[in-house]
Amino acid sequence: KRVTAEPDNWTRTSCVYCGVGCQMEVGRSAGRVVAVRPANSPVNRGHLCVKGRYAFDFNHADDRITSPMIRRDGGWEPVCWDEALDFTARRLQEIVDRHGPDAVGVLGSARATNEENYLAQKFARVVIGTNNVDCCARVCHTPSAKALKTMLGTGAATNAFDDIEATNAFLLCGANPTENHPVVGARIKQRVLQGARLIVVDPRRTELAALADVHLAVRPGGNVPLFNAMAATLVEEGLVDRDFVAARVVGFADYVAFVADYTPEKMAAVCGVAAGDIRAAARLYAAGRPSMCFHGLGVTEHLQGTEGVMALINLALLTGNLGKPGAGINPLRGQNNVQGAAQMGCDPASLTGAQSFKDAGPRFEAVWGRKLPASHGLDLLQMMDAARDGELKAIWAFGYDIYQSLADAAETGTALSRLDLLIVQDLFLNRTATFGTVFFPAASVFEKDGTFMNSDRRVQRVRQVLPPPGDARPDWWIIQALAERLGKPDGFAFDGPEAVWNEVRALWPAGAGLSYPRLDNDSPNWPCPDERHPGTPVLHADHFADGKAAELARIPFVATPEQVDDTYPLLLTTGRTLNHFNAGTMSYRTPNATLAPSDTLDIAPVDAAAYGLKDGDIVRVRSRYGHACLPVHVTPAMRPGQLFTSFHRPDLFVNQLTSSVRDRLVHAPEYKVTAVRLEKPDG
Ligand code: SF4
Repeated sequence: KRVTAEPDNWTRTSCVYCGVGCQMEVGRSAGRVVAVRPANSPVNRGHLCVKGRYAFDFNHADDRITSPMIRRDGGWEPVCWDEALDFTARRLQEIVDRHGPDAVGVLGSARATNEENYLAQKFARVVIGTNNVDCCARVCHTPSAKALKTMLGTGAATNAFDDIEATNAFLLCGANPTENHPVVGARIKQRVLQGARLIVVDPRRTELAALADVHLAVRPGGNVPLFNAMAATLVEEGLVDRDFVAARVVGFADYVAFVADYTPEKMAAVCGVAAGDIRAAARLYAAGRPSMCFHGLGVTEHLQGTEGVMALINLALLTGNLGKPGAGINPLRGQNNVQGAAQMGCDPASLTGAQSFKDAGPRFEAVWGRKLPASHGLDLLQMMDAARDGELKAIWAFGYDIYQSLADAAETGTALSRLDLLIVQDLFLNRTATFGTVFFPAASVFEKDGTFMNSDRRVQRVRQVLPPPGDARPDWWIIQALAERLGKPDGFAFDGPEAVWNEVRALWPAGAGLSYPRLDNDSPNWPCPDERHPGTPVLHADHFADGKAAELARIPFVATPEQVDDTYPLLLTTGRTLNHFNAGTMSYRTPNATLAPSDTLDIAPVDAAAYGLKDGDIVRVRSRYGHACLPVHVTPAMRPGQLFTSFHRPDLFVNQLTSSVRDRLVHAPEYKVTAVRLEKPDG
């Protein structure tokens, strides 16, 4: 129940939900959060959405866990911190002694601050001695980071949100910011209403798709042929920015030869979009210059997720839409600190600041006082495989409900059940805790200090509003305490987040200018190499990585093996909705649950009629991986043959359905394409 009271104190902090990174003031009264109001910042300009403004009551939910617990005799037994830490340290040490450090994996989280994610990966590499460290970015925008880093040199959005008002045309791909990044969605809509052109690539007729000049309702799995066909149009119709290509791009002649096989007329049937619409979109994107591309998980969560982003980067390179205001390739990061979690080094293949072991390793070894682990680390999905196969014995997961979140839940459950030690660190007993050995109660975003990193490369302060309840502690405190118990206190004796952040700044040149005193008044976009540097709203103004030209990527189309057939004749995509957030851990413990009490199965009217379904009917959806029951929502936003559902409500457990297919390069699950059939609930 919400407690209503006049706040007697307001604290400025960052929103805990999406990657827009809105700034807010949190009102406190009698030891509770009782209100949130928007703060002014370059990101949100005095606005908040229904999640940031109203969904804060999770902090005081009755089922908040406030004591460490150990599983004994099949149940959870509350214990003191000394007992929990001693028990966990002993079990971890036994596993390392018996199976080696690579039998342990650590998972950081967007719910944790930059400082906490930095300590998590340092713990993995220094205390345990493994590169088995990853975070939730793996399942969303690791494909974006990989594509942007590979082709342009920096794995982050190229342009700041402020460029929305400077663009003439938007290419919005696989993203529904009206619901998932609402403050940015509203800014895009405003700019479109002022005259900017809008191209939307989305299988569904979203609010912005309905407003678009061209809506390309791509068949799920058809992004690469669609983007290649747009590129072919640019080449064929003389819409390439020849000066930009000559000055800053290599591989043009080879690319022209490659893309000639991907004309809109050849690709229309493959991607499900009329050739004329593909050509119209390419012309608008080229003519709009500067044109700004935003993309979301509808691009990344595919077999060719990384390659889909690379195909988008090709479009920007061909039209000169990089290195200038109002342009760029901009992933809309889903979670508050998902950019920061990976950027801090919760990535098996890179160190803090996305720096390579080869270039930066010696500096890290000098500061950390030990050799870096030599072995190749496992990513999150590889950890699941290794756990299933009995090779990974322990996982420590921070603020991340793996079981609820990963695709193909049955496989995830099998993997988690085979671990010898699963340390769950969260506010609540989440679904992953079903398999947990130890539970560490974490402080919430309102109960700790630190920083988050948003979608447009700003580091922003998180400030403590309240003390944590009971024995809950900030993640950074817990990591340091466990390092001490494991006999490795050196390098883990920081007196607070600012000291941790200063070590990050010392190791990450692009963040060196972002001191806490500066962040009190300012949030420049990194790179910001010194305290007088103004920040870098536009990346690649003069050159790409290491002063080089960028190379166009020739991306052949590879069809997903997840295809419809007579047994599974419908295609299901999954995504998020306005009132809720991800696994629902927070938003379902707020009044937003009243606004949107359930996920729904969205279905086209013609399919609903064929199956005899109407709004509110409960239907069982069955895939090759599992089944779930959902209430039907009939809507003309869906194309015939396609279904959509969100995955927020914990008990509906939609990821029982989703596919085991993964991105070919970085293993993000293909949440966007699952073949299913519909059955009566008792069928
Ligand atoms: Fe929070 Fe995102 Fe909403 Fe802003 S748009 S208030 S960051 S959920």
